[in-house]
Amino acid sequence: MRIAIVGGGIAGALLALRLTRAPRPAEVDLFLGEATSSRDASRASGGMVRGFEPDPAAAREAAESLAEIRGSATLREWSGYRETGSVYVPARGAGTADSLKIVDHLLPGSATLVDRAVLAREHRLRNLPDRAIGVVERHAGHISPHRLRTAVLAELARTNAVLHLTKVRQVTDDPAVRTAGGATLRYDAVVVAAGAWTPRLLADSGLPGESLRSKQVQYSVCQAGLDDLRPFVEGNSGLYGRWMRPGAFLLGLPSDRWDVDPDEISRDRALTEKVVTHAERLFGVPVRAVRTVASFDCYRDPPGLALRPLGTAGRLYTFTGGSGGAAKTAVAASRTAADALL
Ligand SMILES: Cc1cc2nc3c(=O)[nH]c(=O)nc-3n(C[C@H](O)[C@H](O)[C@H](O)COP(=O)(O)OP(=O)(O)OC[C@H]3O[C@@H](n4cnc5c(N)ncnc54)[C@H](O)[C@@H]3O)c2cc1C
Repeated sequence: MRIAIVGGGIAGALLALRLTRAPRPAEVDLFLGEATSSRDASRASGGMVRGFEPDPAAAREAAESLAEIRGSATLREWSGYRETGSVYVPARGAGTADSLKIVDHLLPGSATLVDRAVLAREHRLRNLPDRAIGVVERHAGHISPHRLRTAVLAELARTNAVLHLTKVRQVTDDPAVRTAGGATLRYDAVVVAAGAWTPRLLADSGLPGESLRSKQVQYSVCQAGLDDLRPFVEGNSGLYGRWMRPGAFLLGLPSDRWDVDPDEISRDRALTEKVVTHAERLFGVPVRAVRTVASFDCYRDPPGLALRPLGTAGRLYTFTGGSGGAAKTAVAASRTAADALL
Protein backbone atom coordinates (compact mmCIF):
# COMPACT_ATOMS: atom_id res chain seq x y z
CA MET A 1 0.00 0.00 0.00
CA ARG A 2 1.31 3.47 -0.86
CA ILE A 3 0.26 6.08 1.65
CA ALA A 4 0.93 9.84 1.71
CA ILE A 5 0.85 11.72 5.01
CA VAL A 6 0.66 15.51 5.01
CA GLY A 7 2.34 17.01 8.09
CA GLY A 8 5.30 15.98 10.21
CA GLY A 9 4.12 16.99 13.68
CA ILE A 10 3.86 14.35 16.38
CA ALA A 11 0.69 12.98 14.73
CA GLY A 12 2.01 12.56 11.16
CA ALA A 13 5.46 11.38 12.25
CA LEU A 14 4.17 8.68 14.63
CA LEU A 15 1.59 7.49 12.10
CA ALA A 16 4.33 7.17 9.46
CA LEU A 17 6.46 5.17 11.88
CA ARG A 18 3.61 2.78 12.72
CA LEU A 19 2.84 2.24 9.03
CA THR A 20 6.45 1.47 8.11
CA ARG A 21 6.83 -0.91 11.07
CA ALA A 22 3.66 -2.94 10.55
CA PRO A 23 3.97 -6.69 9.80
CA ARG A 24 3.08 -5.87 6.18
CA PRO A 25 4.47 -2.34 6.02
CA ALA A 26 3.17 0.44 3.81
CA GLU A 27 5.32 2.57 1.53
CA VAL A 28 5.05 6.01 3.10
CA ASP A 29 5.62 9.45 1.61
CA LEU A 30 5.63 12.05 4.41
CA PHE A 31 5.21 15.70 3.40
CA LEU A 32 6.79 17.99 5.97
CA GLY A 33 6.11 21.42 4.50
CA GLU A 34 8.92 23.91 4.17
CA ALA A 35 10.15 25.22 7.50
CA THR A 36 6.82 25.59 9.29
CA SER A 37 7.55 22.87 11.86
CA SER A 38 9.64 25.48 13.70
CA ARG A 39 6.28 26.99 14.75
CA ASP A 40 3.96 24.03 15.02
CA ALA A 41 2.01 22.74 18.03
CA SER A 42 4.41 19.86 18.61
CA ARG A 43 7.24 22.36 18.96
CA ALA A 44 5.42 24.65 21.42
CA SER A 45 3.71 21.90 23.40
CA GLY A 46 3.98 21.66 27.18
CA GLY A 47 3.99 17.86 26.75
CA MET A 48 2.15 17.03 29.99
CA VAL A 49 1.30 13.32 29.99
CA ARG A 50 -0.82 11.33 32.45
CA GLY A 51 -3.35 8.50 32.39
CA PHE A 52 -6.39 10.24 33.86
CA GLU A 53 -8.87 12.19 31.78
CA PRO A 54 -12.52 12.66 32.87
CA ASP A 55 -13.70 11.13 29.57
CA PRO A 56 -13.08 7.34 29.77
CA ALA A 57 -12.22 6.97 26.06
CA ALA A 58 -9.64 9.77 26.34
CA ALA A 59 -8.29 8.21 29.53
CA ARG A 60 -7.81 4.89 27.73
CA GLU A 61 -5.79 6.50 24.90
CA ALA A 62 -3.73 8.57 27.34
CA ALA A 63 -3.03 5.66 29.68
CA GLU A 64 -2.18 3.30 26.80
CA SER A 65 0.24 5.89 25.39
CA LEU A 66 1.90 6.45 28.73
CA ALA A 67 2.16 2.72 29.43
CA GLU A 68 3.87 2.23 26.07
CA ILE A 69 6.29 5.11 26.66
CA ARG A 70 7.13 3.90 30.18
CA GLY A 71 7.63 0.35 28.90
CA SER A 72 9.99 1.24 26.05
CA ALA A 73 13.55 2.46 26.64
CA THR A 74 13.55 3.81 23.06
CA LEU A 75 10.35 5.83 23.52
CA ARG A 76 11.50 7.14 26.91
CA GLU A 77 14.75 8.32 25.33
CA TRP A 78 13.17 9.70 22.14
CA SER A 79 10.49 11.62 24.05
CA GLY A 80 12.67 12.76 26.97
CA TYR A 81 10.03 11.43 29.38
CA ARG A 82 10.33 12.80 32.92
CA GLU A 83 8.24 11.15 35.62
CA THR A 84 7.12 13.88 38.00
CA GLY A 85 3.56 12.74 38.77
CA SER A 86 0.32 14.63 38.15
CA VAL A 87 -2.68 16.09 39.98
CA TYR A 88 -6.02 16.48 38.19
CA VAL A 89 -8.98 18.22 39.84
CA PRO A 90 -12.01 17.33 37.69
CA ALA A 91 -14.62 20.04 37.11
CA ARG A 92 -17.53 19.86 39.54
CA GLY A 93 -19.95 17.10 38.50
CA ALA A 94 -17.48 15.23 36.27
CA GLY A 95 -17.37 11.51 37.02
CA THR A 96 -14.09 9.76 37.81
CA ALA A 97 -14.95 6.10 38.48
CA ASP A 98 -14.83 4.70 34.91
CA SER A 99 -11.64 6.55 34.00
CA LEU A 100 -9.95 5.51 37.24
CA LYS A 101 -10.73 1.84 36.53
CA ILE A 102 -9.06 2.17 33.12
CA VAL A 103 -5.99 3.95 34.51
CA ASP A 104 -5.68 1.36 37.28
CA HIS A 105 -5.75 -1.45 34.73
CA LEU A 106 -3.15 0.11 32.40
CA LEU A 107 -0.94 1.82 34.98
CA PRO A 108 -1.48 -0.31 38.10
CA GLY A 109 -1.13 1.49 41.42
CA SER A 110 -0.53 4.87 39.80
CA ALA A 111 -3.72 6.82 40.58
CA THR A 112 -5.24 7.73 43.96
CA LEU A 113 -8.35 9.76 44.69
CA VAL A 114 -7.82 12.47 47.32
CA ASP A 115 -10.08 15.07 48.94
CA ARG A 116 -9.95 18.84 49.10
CA ALA A 117 -8.00 18.88 52.37
CA VAL A 118 -5.22 16.71 50.91
CA LEU A 119 -5.13 18.86 47.76
CA ALA A 120 -4.57 21.94 49.92
CA ARG A 121 -2.14 20.36 52.37
CA GLU A 122 0.01 18.21 50.08
CA HIS A 123 -0.43 19.80 46.66
CA ARG A 124 -0.77 23.52 47.45
CA LEU A 125 -4.10 23.77 45.60
CA ARG A 126 -5.93 26.01 48.05
CA ASN A 127 -8.99 27.90 46.93
CA LEU A 128 -10.84 24.99 45.36
CA PRO A 129 -14.65 24.68 45.28
CA ASP A 130 -16.34 22.84 48.18
CA ARG A 131 -16.23 19.05 47.82
CA ALA A 132 -13.51 19.22 45.16
CA ILE A 133 -11.59 15.98 44.71
CA GLY A 134 -8.32 15.24 42.94
CA VAL A 135 -6.76 12.34 41.05
CA VAL A 136 -3.11 12.09 42.04
CA GLU A 137 -0.95 9.97 39.71
CA ARG A 138 2.54 8.66 40.37
CA HIS A 139 3.25 7.43 36.84
CA ALA A 140 2.84 10.68 34.90
CA GLY A 141 4.95 13.68 33.99
CA HIS A 142 6.00 15.31 30.75
CA ILE A 143 7.59 14.54 27.41
CA SER A 144 8.98 16.75 24.67
CA PRO A 145 6.71 16.18 21.63
CA HIS A 146 9.26 18.04 19.47
CA ARG A 147 12.10 15.79 20.59
CA LEU A 148 9.94 12.71 19.96
CA ARG A 149 8.93 13.92 16.49
CA THR A 150 12.55 14.77 15.63
CA ALA A 151 13.74 11.30 16.70
CA VAL A 152 10.93 9.61 14.76
CA LEU A 153 11.71 11.63 11.60
CA ALA A 154 15.40 10.65 11.89
CA GLU A 155 14.36 7.00 12.25
CA LEU A 156 12.05 7.28 9.23
CA ALA A 157 14.84 8.82 7.15
CA ARG A 158 16.96 5.75 7.95
CA THR A 159 14.22 3.34 6.85
CA ASN A 160 12.31 3.26 3.57
CA ALA A 161 9.95 6.22 4.16
CA VAL A 162 10.38 9.16 1.80
CA LEU A 163 10.44 12.56 3.50
CA HIS A 164 9.51 15.51 1.27
CA LEU A 165 10.49 19.03 2.36
CA THR A 166 7.58 20.32 0.32
CA LYS A 167 4.32 22.00 1.18
CA VAL A 168 1.15 20.32 -0.02
CA ARG A 169 -1.16 22.82 -1.72
CA GLN A 170 -4.23 20.60 -2.17
CA VAL A 171 -5.46 17.07 -1.58
CA THR A 172 -8.06 15.30 -3.70
CA ASP A 173 -10.18 12.23 -2.96
CA ASP A 174 -8.76 10.21 -5.94
CA PRO A 175 -6.71 10.26 -3.63
CA ALA A 176 -3.73 12.48 -4.52
CA VAL A 177 -1.64 15.35 -3.23
CA ARG A 178 -0.78 18.45 -5.24
CA THR A 179 2.52 19.91 -4.11
CA ALA A 180 3.53 23.56 -4.03
CA GLY A 181 5.86 22.71 -6.94
CA GLY A 182 2.85 21.77 -9.09
CA ALA A 183 3.23 17.96 -9.07
CA THR A 184 0.19 15.70 -8.63
CA LEU A 185 1.08 12.45 -6.87
CA ARG A 186 -1.41 9.57 -6.52
CA TYR A 187 -1.57 7.05 -3.65
CA ASP A 188 -3.73 4.26 -2.29
CA ALA A 189 -4.52 6.48 0.70
CA VAL A 190 -3.82 10.10 1.69
CA VAL A 191 -3.88 11.25 5.32
CA VAL A 192 -3.96 14.94 6.26
CA ALA A 193 -2.16 15.34 9.61
CA ALA A 194 -1.51 19.06 9.23
CA GLY A 195 -2.69 20.10 12.71
CA ALA A 196 -4.13 23.63 12.84
CA TRP A 197 -3.38 24.08 9.12
CA THR A 198 -5.82 21.25 8.27
CA PRO A 199 -9.04 23.36 8.00
CA ARG A 200 -7.34 25.74 5.55
CA LEU A 201 -5.81 22.93 3.47
CA LEU A 202 -9.23 21.27 3.20
CA ALA A 203 -10.87 24.56 2.22
CA ASP A 204 -8.16 25.19 -0.40
CA SER A 205 -8.91 21.70 -1.73
CA GLY A 206 -12.66 22.39 -1.96
CA LEU A 207 -13.34 19.69 0.65
CA PRO A 208 -15.67 19.86 3.68
CA GLY A 209 -13.88 20.88 6.87
CA GLU A 210 -15.93 18.48 9.01
CA SER A 211 -16.02 20.10 12.44
CA LEU A 212 -12.29 20.83 12.52
CA ARG A 213 -11.29 24.33 13.68
CA SER A 214 -8.01 25.95 14.61
CA LYS A 215 -7.74 27.53 18.05
CA GLN A 216 -5.06 29.43 19.92
CA VAL A 217 -3.21 27.63 22.73
CA GLN A 218 -1.16 29.83 25.01
CA TYR A 219 0.85 29.49 28.19
CA SER A 220 3.20 31.69 30.17
CA VAL A 221 6.50 30.86 31.78
CA CYS A 222 6.13 32.28 35.29
CA GLN A 223 8.18 32.96 38.37
CA ALA A 224 6.00 31.77 41.21
CA GLY A 225 8.01 29.82 43.77
CA LEU A 226 6.14 26.65 42.82
CA ASP A 227 9.18 24.44 42.23
CA ASP A 228 7.86 21.62 44.43
CA LEU A 229 4.47 21.42 42.70
CA ARG A 230 3.51 18.45 40.48
CA PRO A 231 2.06 19.06 37.02
CA PHE A 232 -1.60 19.89 37.59
CA VAL A 233 -4.93 20.59 35.90
CA GLU A 234 -7.66 22.44 37.79
CA GLY A 235 -10.72 21.54 35.74
CA ASN A 236 -13.07 24.17 37.23
CA SER A 237 -11.04 27.17 36.08
CA GLY A 238 -9.12 25.29 33.35
CA LEU A 239 -5.77 26.38 34.85
CA TYR A 240 -2.94 23.93 34.19
CA GLY A 241 0.78 23.96 34.69
CA ARG A 242 4.04 22.18 35.18
CA TRP A 243 7.53 22.83 36.45
CA MET A 244 9.96 23.74 33.66
CA ARG A 245 13.27 24.48 35.39
CA PRO A 246 14.33 26.00 38.74
CA GLY A 247 12.35 29.21 39.22
CA ALA A 248 10.27 28.76 36.03
CA PHE A 249 6.76 27.25 36.04
CA LEU A 250 4.56 26.91 32.95
CA LEU A 251 1.00 28.12 33.58
CA GLY A 252 -1.89 28.34 31.12
CA LEU A 253 -5.64 28.73 30.69
CA PRO A 254 -7.78 27.79 27.68
CA SER A 255 -7.98 30.54 25.04
CA ASP A 256 -11.19 31.66 23.35
CA ARG A 257 -9.51 32.69 20.08
CA TRP A 258 -11.03 30.37 17.46
CA ASP A 259 -10.24 30.00 13.75
CA VAL A 260 -6.79 31.57 14.11
CA ASP A 261 -4.39 31.59 11.20
CA PRO A 262 -1.38 29.54 12.41
CA ASP A 263 0.94 31.74 10.36
CA GLU A 264 -0.36 34.96 11.99
CA ILE A 265 -0.56 34.04 15.66
CA SER A 266 -0.13 36.78 18.27
CA ARG A 267 0.01 36.81 22.07
CA ASP A 268 -3.19 37.45 23.99
CA ARG A 269 -2.07 39.76 26.80
CA ALA A 270 -5.44 39.69 28.56
CA LEU A 271 -5.17 35.91 28.80
CA THR A 272 -1.70 36.18 30.32
CA GLU A 273 -3.08 38.53 32.99
CA LYS A 274 -5.95 36.13 33.66
CA VAL A 275 -3.48 33.27 34.15
CA VAL A 276 -1.56 35.30 36.73
CA THR A 277 -4.75 36.25 38.62
CA HIS A 278 -6.09 32.68 38.65
CA ALA A 279 -2.76 31.21 39.75
CA GLU A 280 -2.32 33.75 42.56
CA ARG A 281 -5.81 32.93 43.81
CA LEU A 282 -5.28 29.16 43.60
CA PHE A 283 -1.84 29.02 45.21
CA GLY A 284 -1.90 32.13 47.39
CA VAL A 285 1.58 33.23 46.20
CA PRO A 286 2.70 36.12 43.96
CA VAL A 287 3.06 35.07 40.31
CA ARG A 288 4.95 36.94 37.57
CA ALA A 289 4.70 36.04 33.88
CA VAL A 290 8.16 36.28 32.32
CA ARG A 291 7.45 35.01 28.81
CA THR A 292 4.29 34.01 26.93
CA VAL A 293 4.20 31.35 24.22
CA ALA A 294 1.31 31.65 21.76
CA SER A 295 0.61 28.67 19.55
CA PHE A 296 -2.40 26.73 18.22
CA ASP A 297 -3.89 23.32 17.66
CA CYS A 298 -6.64 21.72 15.60
CA TYR A 299 -9.84 21.31 17.65
CA ARG A 300 -12.84 19.13 17.15
CA ASP A 301 -16.07 18.32 18.96
CA PRO A 302 -15.89 15.69 20.38
CA PRO A 303 -12.16 16.19 20.82
CA GLY A 304 -9.41 13.69 20.15
CA LEU A 305 -6.65 12.76 17.73
CA ALA A 306 -8.07 10.02 15.47
CA LEU A 307 -8.20 8.84 11.88
CA ARG A 308 -11.39 10.05 10.21
CA PRO A 309 -12.47 9.41 6.59
CA LEU A 310 -13.11 12.42 4.38
CA GLY A 311 -14.85 12.64 1.04
CA THR A 312 -16.75 9.90 -0.73
CA ALA A 313 -14.10 7.49 -2.06
CA GLY A 314 -13.04 6.38 1.44
CA ARG A 315 -9.32 6.72 0.80
CA LEU A 316 -8.75 10.27 1.99
CA TYR A 317 -8.53 10.82 5.76
CA THR A 318 -7.67 13.35 8.42
CA PHE A 319 -5.54 12.47 11.43
CA THR A 320 -5.83 15.51 13.66
CA GLY A 321 -8.25 17.06 16.19
CA GLY A 322 -5.94 16.71 19.20
CA SER A 323 -7.70 19.77 20.70
CA GLY A 324 -4.80 20.81 22.91
CA GLY A 325 -4.20 17.32 24.25
CA ALA A 326 -2.63 14.99 21.68
CA ALA A 327 0.84 14.89 23.21
CA LYS A 328 -0.59 12.45 25.71
CA THR A 329 -2.58 10.32 23.23
CA ALA A 330 -0.53 10.33 19.99
CA VAL A 331 1.41 7.13 20.73
CA ALA A 332 -1.76 5.03 21.10
CA ALA A 333 -3.83 6.97 18.53
CA SER A 334 -1.17 6.43 15.84
CA ARG A 335 -1.26 2.66 16.44
CA THR A 336 -5.07 2.58 16.15
CA ALA A 337 -4.93 4.73 12.99
CA ALA A 338 -2.25 2.60 11.33
CA ASP A 339 -4.21 -0.60 12.08
CA ALA A 340 -7.33 0.93 10.53
CA LEU A 341 -5.47 2.09 7.40
CA LEU A 342 -3.75 -1.22 6.78
C1 LIG B 1 1.18 25.58 23.57
C2 LIG B 1 0.71 24.15 23.56
C3 LIG B 1 0.79 23.39 24.72
C4 LIG B 1 0.34 22.07 24.71
N1 LIG B 1 0.46 21.33 25.83
C5 LIG B 1 0.05 20.03 25.82
C6 LIG B 1 0.23 19.21 26.96
O1 LIG B 1 0.75 19.65 27.99
N2 LIG B 1 -0.20 17.92 26.91
C7 LIG B 1 -0.81 17.41 25.79
O2 LIG B 1 -1.19 16.24 25.79
N3 LIG B 1 -0.96 18.16 24.68
C8 LIG B 1 -0.54 19.44 24.68
N4 LIG B 1 -0.69 20.21 23.56
C9 LIG B 1 -1.32 19.61 22.39
C10 LIG B 1 -0.36 18.81 21.53
O3 LIG B 1 0.94 19.32 21.60
C11 LIG B 1 -0.89 18.85 20.09
O4 LIG B 1 -2.21 18.27 20.11
C12 LIG B 1 -0.01 18.07 19.11
O5 LIG B 1 1.32 18.52 19.17
C13 LIG B 1 -0.57 18.26 17.71
O6 LIG B 1 0.30 17.61 16.82
P1 LIG B 1 -0.04 17.59 15.26
O7 LIG B 1 0.99 16.73 14.62
O8 LIG B 1 -1.47 17.24 15.09
O9 LIG B 1 0.09 19.12 14.79
P2 LIG B 1 1.40 20.02 14.59
O10 LIG B 1 2.42 19.72 15.60
O11 LIG B 1 0.94 21.44 14.51
O12 LIG B 1 1.97 19.55 13.21
C14 LIG B 1 1.35 19.82 11.98
C15 LIG B 1 2.44 19.80 10.93
O13 LIG B 1 1.85 19.88 9.64
C16 LIG B 1 2.70 20.64 8.81
N5 LIG B 1 1.91 21.17 7.70
C17 LIG B 1 0.88 22.05 7.78
N6 LIG B 1 0.39 22.31 6.56
C18 LIG B 1 1.12 21.58 5.69
C19 LIG B 1 1.10 21.44 4.28
N7 LIG B 1 0.21 22.10 3.52
N8 LIG B 1 2.02 20.62 3.69
C20 LIG B 1 2.91 19.94 4.46
N9 LIG B 1 2.98 20.05 5.81
C21 LIG B 1 2.09 20.86 6.40
C22 LIG B 1 3.21 21.74 9.73
O14 LIG B 1 4.43 22.27 9.25
C23 LIG B 1 3.40 20.99 11.04
O15 LIG B 1 4.72 20.51 11.18
C24 LIG B 1 -0.22 21.52 23.54
C25 LIG B 1 -0.30 22.29 22.38
C26 LIG B 1 0.17 23.59 22.38
C27 LIG B 1 0.10 24.37 21.12
